[in-house]
Amino acid sequence: MADIESHLAAVRHRIRAACRAAGRSEDAVRLLAISKTQSADAIRAAHAAGQIAFGENYVQEALDKQAQLTATALQPPIEWHFTGPIQSNKTRAIAQAFDWAHGVDRLKIAQRLSEQRPAELPPLQVCVQVNISGEASKSGCAPAEAAELCRAVAALPRLRLRGLMAIPAPTADGEDPRAPFRALHALFETLRRDGLELDTLSAGMSDDLEAAIAEGSTLVRVGTAIFGARPRATHT
Ligand SMILES: *Cc1c(COP(=O)(O)O)cnc(C)c1O
Repeated sequence: MADIESHLAAVRHRIRAACRAAGRSEDAVRLLAISKTQSADAIRAAHAAGQIAFGENYVQEALDKQAQLTATALQPPIEWHFTGPIQSNKTRAIAQAFDWAHGVDRLKIAQRLSEQRPAELPPLQVCVQVNISGEASKSGCAPAEAAELCRAVAALPRLRLRGLMAIPAPTADGEDPRAPFRALHALFETLRRDGLELDTLSAGMSDDLEAAIAEGSTLVRVGTAIFGARPRATHT
């Protein structure tokens, strides 16, 4: 746990350095701590070190940890992001218990999230996930479908479309590691030019946050570099 504070400081340092290297303002990029498979105590330690936004991939695990953390009423409150793939039978729990969802890649999922978002909560903040590397096995809509899906999401009453999210495939030796992030950023800028109000480009993880920031990421999702190697996942 003592390591979490120093790891967080190191990650923040990397983010600032990458912003400077890219000629971007040092506060241009938000840090989302990906706490999937980590304990509530690990989240508490990161929060004590100033981290506010946490990302989880497994609904039941996240609800269990939220229950443990609510008992201690952390201030300021944690901002919860759902960063895993979204199954239809999980939309209600996500709409009720999260502030953001990053993995929206189908209209049906977006419609369910909007219908199920409780009236007393602000709209759910949403990033549309794009399969930027075109991997057959991965979630995310095809880049060519992103504009239509973004327009449909933006029109849903209980969602607020914030931007795009991607998990590029690792590039092979000799390939430009920035290329997929550049393609994502180009798509983001095209959508903005076409009138969509997007302010969030959710891209970059422990191993590639510098490449993502060099190519315009505004939010990096970092797990291992903060919490260390993940324990084996015990559920899906
Ligand atoms: C696990 C995960 C991360 C964090 O990955 P690290 O390599 O541990 O930083 C980021 N984004 C998503 C969607 C993830 O599932």
